[in-house]
Amino acid sequence: MLSVGLAMLQGARHEHAEALRGAAGELGLDLNIVECRRASHVNSDLDALILPGGESTTMRVASQHESLLESLFDWMNAHPERPVLGTCAGAILMASPGDERTPFLQASINRNGWGRQRQSFESTVDVTLETPSGDVFDVAPADRDIFAHQPLEMQSQAASSTDEGFPGVFIRAPRFVAEEISCTPVAMLGDEIVGVLDGMRLGLTFHPELTLDRRFHRWLLSQAQYTKGAE
Ligand code: GLN
Repeated sequence: MLSVGLAMLQGARHEHAEALRGAAGELGLDLNIVECRRASHVNSDLDALILPGGESTTMRVASQHESLLESLFDWMNAHPERPVLGTCAGAILMASPGDERTPFLQASINRNGWGRQRQSFESTVDVTLETPSGDVFDVAPADRDIFAHQPLEMQSQAASSTDEGFPGVFIRAPRFVAEEISCTPVAMLGDEIVGVLDGMRLGLTFHPELTLDRRFHRWLLSQAQYTKGAE
């Protein structure tokens, strides 16, 4: 049984939970999602972690009370071999954790880097990250969260192989600074790097949890399983 921590910071958390359940089904893995609301929820039993999107400033402020963000960063420092997926604001937090902490992604990132005109858009992303393929698996509506969140309808074509473009949903997305990336680019929007991998830390400026293509969530689970087996 894999335990995946989902940082309940703010933003698209329920969608990540559903994507995780879907990915676990596709890989035939048993999954326990741990909703991390307080520092005490972030413990060494977690095999992987997701930092969702939202508003990074709000996340920093809101999490101060329960020291949640600090405990997530401490966990990441304590377990460098355990995989972490940060999407959008989550990637911002990983690249600039603040408080003189060493960044978890060796990459500079600018908040709202696409400007007003293109604050939100959808476009196909080329993925070079190796992700495991999985069997078709539909999350039963009864398993959905109480808000019955669903993936975006226009993104409902699930793609399962890395050869296919990924439906990139960019929502007031941050932007990596191309000249200041010293980790591995794994997702491209044309010439633009929109996803990076630094060790076991994957940072994406778009929102894979809003699509039915769960390859990044499958990556997280398969890496977590591998690490757990090796520990
Ligand atoms: N613009 C947000 C920020 O700066 C990120 C947006 C998102 O996560 N969708 O934190």
